[in-house]
Amino acid sequence: MTPRASQYVVQGGWIVAAEGRRLTLRRNAHLIVDSGVIKAIVEGRYVGDWPVVAVPEALIVPGFVSGHTHVASATPTRGLIEGGRSARRSAGLVAALDDDDLDALTAYNLAEILRSGCTTQLEMSQTLRQAESYVRIAKRWGVRGYPGAMIPATPRVDAIWARTDDAVLFASEADTLREIAANLDFGRRHMNAGDGRLRPMMSPHATDTHTPKTMAALRAAALELGTGLHLHLAQGESETAAVRRLWQMTPAAWLEHLGLLDMPVFGAHMMALDWTSDPAILRRHGVVYVHCPSAGGASRTSQPYPEALGAGLLVNIGIDTHSNDYLENLKLAVIGGRIRAGLVSGRHPGPVIAPTVWDALAGATIVAADALGRPDLGRLAPGARADFAVIDLAGFLVGAGALPPDPLHHLLYANGLSVRHVATDGRFQVFDGALIVDDERQVISEGARVAEKIWAQLAAEGRLKGAADGFDLPASHQ
Ligand SMILES: [Zn+2]
Repeated sequence: MTPRASQYVVQGGWIVAAEGRRLTLRRNAHLIVDSGVIKAIVEGRYVGDWPVVAVPEALIVPGFVSGHTHVASATPTRGLIEGGRSARRSAGLVAALDDDDLDALTAYNLAEILRSGCTTQLEMSQTLRQAESYVRIAKRWGVRGYPGAMIPATPRVDAIWARTDDAVLFASEADTLREIAANLDFGRRHMNAGDGRLRPMMSPHATDTHTPKTMAALRAAALELGTGLHLHLAQGESETAAVRRLWQMTPAAWLEHLGLLDMPVFGAHMMALDWTSDPAILRRHGVVYVHCPSAGGASRTSQPYPEALGAGLLVNIGIDTHSNDYLENLKLAVIGGRIRAGLVSGRHPGPVIAPTVWDALAGATIVAADALGRPDLGRLAPGARADFAVIDLAGFLVGAGALPPDPLHHLLYANGLSVRHVATDGRFQVFDGALIVDDERQVISEGARVAEKIWAQLAAEGRLKGAADGFDLPASHQ
């Protein structure tokens, strides 16, 4: 079929369908899409005259929702940060790009995110200009997003975050209030842009880079926009220590005290929660813990996903920065989480649950959509928006050549390149593994041009040292 039809059928395969609060697997079922909406999910072969996309050896899942993304930041840091380099300089260079270069970088990275099945992003751009760039590309490609700029933005945040004297924080108040006002204006201008797919959200950096005054302004702005709050929350010991020092409570308790949890809230990382008191606060307000397995780069950290599930928290999987492969992150969440559960069990003060692929899939879709107040997203059910991804389960390395009997576990052998088709509001953006909403080759070559520009600058500053040093076998390996 032509991927441009507005009425069509996707013939599976397996379909992950939602019936109220229950997710079910339907075998040899088909999805009927009518003008951007799922009309029905029906068992058996489709009989009728609408065009059919046949995927008999694939799994159809709701489009993934990334609760934490910095879209334009991945390719300038990927592969470099693993060598022990800071991401801050790359972030600074990206922030200084002109709009054309920014759009090229945003497009390359957003194409990767879509390619891996992620149709909705809570996008915390590192600057307001990057958020504008995200809106331009997302509008053009029909991507769904909750964009905003990080407040304080890059590079202003660096000195406030790394301060040794809290006077730096209080001296930043006036500029931060100006950024909040500019983000509120961005939110008003773009609210419901792209046929309602774009809904800006206030996105403060974290609790340790704000004061009660800036938090009050954020609260008022978030309540006006009505979409909620997206932030890094208790992302490290230094954040929790700073908030305790200044306000004598944990970051979660401080947010509650300031009235900032009375709205949808997505908090990334939560590496430094107080597990005895914070979970009750987060549960009380339905705060979503966004677990980003690739935060800090590949293999940088292990994060408390099993503890969060054990505490009964809502958990979404987020892309964060360096890997744009949603499926890879979902897989890492399960694999890393199961290993961690074994290691922390008995040492953690609360219950621990080893995550299953169902936990991760639900968190990646319906859990996040419900927390956003969007019963029309994150699920394959009649009346829901037709945001979905089709994942090949039968190919080399992932499957066994045929439609498998226990399909979800094959996701643990898959990655974003296993995703075959992706649609948002019924519009195919990726078809047969190719980006079709733009000239894919140009998106790649333009993205490459900007990445090479950033690498050249890093090299000129001596920041790529050690990159091709080679490796000496340890003396013990004689
Ligand atoms: Zn982040």
